Amino acid sequence: MENRYSRQILLDDIGELGQRKLNKAKVLVIGAGGLGCPVLTYLICAGVGNIRIVDCDIISESNLNRQFLYGPGDIGKEKVFTAKHYLNKQNPEVIIEAFNDRVNEDNIQRLIDGIDIVVDCVDNITTRLITNSACLEKNIPLVDGGVEGFYGFATVVKRDSACLECMGFYEGNPKEPAAVVGVTAGIIGSFEANECIRILLGYKSDLEGKFLQYDGKKQTIQKVHVKIDPNCSAHKRYNKLNSK
Ligand SMILES: [Zn+2]
Repeated sequence: MENRYSRQILLDDIGELGQRKLNKAKVLVIGAGGLGCPVLTYLICAGVGNIRIVDCDIISESNLNRQFLYGPGDIGKEKVFTAKHYLNKQNPEVIIEAFNDRVNEDNIQRLIDGIDIVVDCVDNITTRLITNSACLEKNIPLVDGGVEGFYGFATVVKRDSACLECMGFYEGNPKEPAAVVGVTAGIIGSFEANECIRILLGYKSDLEGKFLQYDGKKQTIQKVHVKIDPNCSAHKRYNKLNSK
């Protein structure tokens, strides 16, 4: 019988069983901006059944070169509720929870509670590092990605492989606002959605402990394997918690 998911169920990699896994899955998407729009759209279209979105931004005109869920009539509205409204129209079967909040050390535990996988779609290091530590601690896979100009990266963090801190992310002073080409955010967001779906289906991500770098000028992709840093404080903290 034909339904919304027929064309993906045809794949041996998905099938009826895989579709049921996606329908039951619970994903936290942090950020409903340039990366969040493609991530959320593809997860919703694929039938990922429960999606929690957190974002604290208001839609502005400068978002519209890449954040395709929104239009000029949405300027000034809360991003997270507007995203939920359009995504619900796209697929009413998906349960969407929207939190108009900024991720911090206090709320992250509540936000990841009961979640199967976290997808970071943010533009700042602080949120990445908070999410990174919480995911290591709770043993929840984390998909992360970022863009600047025509360049982007994507990676997957799990306990047994390098985390964002191992990869060299640290608190700094990135220039604000960063230049972003809309299509680059679309490409990296699509990579993130792809990894999220594959992990939910039970496959090992090929980006685990690897840093994928995308160059949109040369159309090249490089994957660099990163080892766990013995001095990584996030890994040390989780090891300590785990050995108790
Ligand atoms: Zn680490």
